[in-house]
Amino acid sequence: MESLIRNIIAYFVNKKVAKPTVKENLTVQKEESVEKEPKEIEVEFEEVEPSVMMPTNEPLITTRQIIDIYGEPDETGSYLTTIDLPYPMRLSWDLDRTVTRMRCHKLLADKFLAVFNDILVHYGIERIKELGIDLFGGCFSFRKMRGGKDWSRHSWGIAIDLDPFRNGLKTKWKDAQFSKEEYRPMMEIFYKHGFQNLGLEADMDAMHMQASYKMSKEMSKNV
Ligand SMILES: [Zn+2]
Repeated sequence: MESLIRNIIAYFVNKKVAKPTVKENLTVQKEESVEKEPKEIEVEFEEVEPSVMMPTNEPLITTRQIIDIYGEPDETGSYLTTIDLPYPMRLSWDLDRTVTRMRCHKLLADKFLAVFNDILVHYGIERIKELGIDLFGGCFSFRKMRGGKDWSRHSWGIAIDLDPFRNGLKTKWKDAQFSKEEYRPMMEIFYKHGFQNLGLEADMDAMHMQASYKMSKEMSKNV
């Protein structure tokens, strides 16, 4: 991910030169140590300014806050809009079925599109398929939370599930597919755009990414 790369500073442990760039350091080596053995270069990468905090440790958006911002949920989803996905997904429970459009809350259409576009740019379609990032588990679904009496965040179309079978509701974050290193850029993309993942935030339901309160408030200002 470009932003990540931008945020990584490579510095070399070299007492003579304070924090040189890669190129400068190599030049210095070449000029100063012509007759000496090449010095061992220790390279260390440090994230100085992470673009995203994962987890955010901000409380998840409450039902009251959701209703204030997105309205009361209803079966017809009168507040939804349909977006064209930048890459096709597969229905996780019926892999032969391709999903090319998705219904989500109209306030979040641009957010979801930005996420999918960034994922496509970062991974490319082949890698997306290989990693199962295209396994669509649903966005809008008017229902109560599984095992709860509160409305599921899917009832407003402000959450999306991906690869549900390997990132189960009761699966601990450490055992979830999405906790693996190769999915970190995907997670960072969701977080960058203001989503929170329940695996990271609550150690359960790693398939589930939902709009944060902060981002929701911002989006409601744009109306
Ligand atoms: Zn979900």
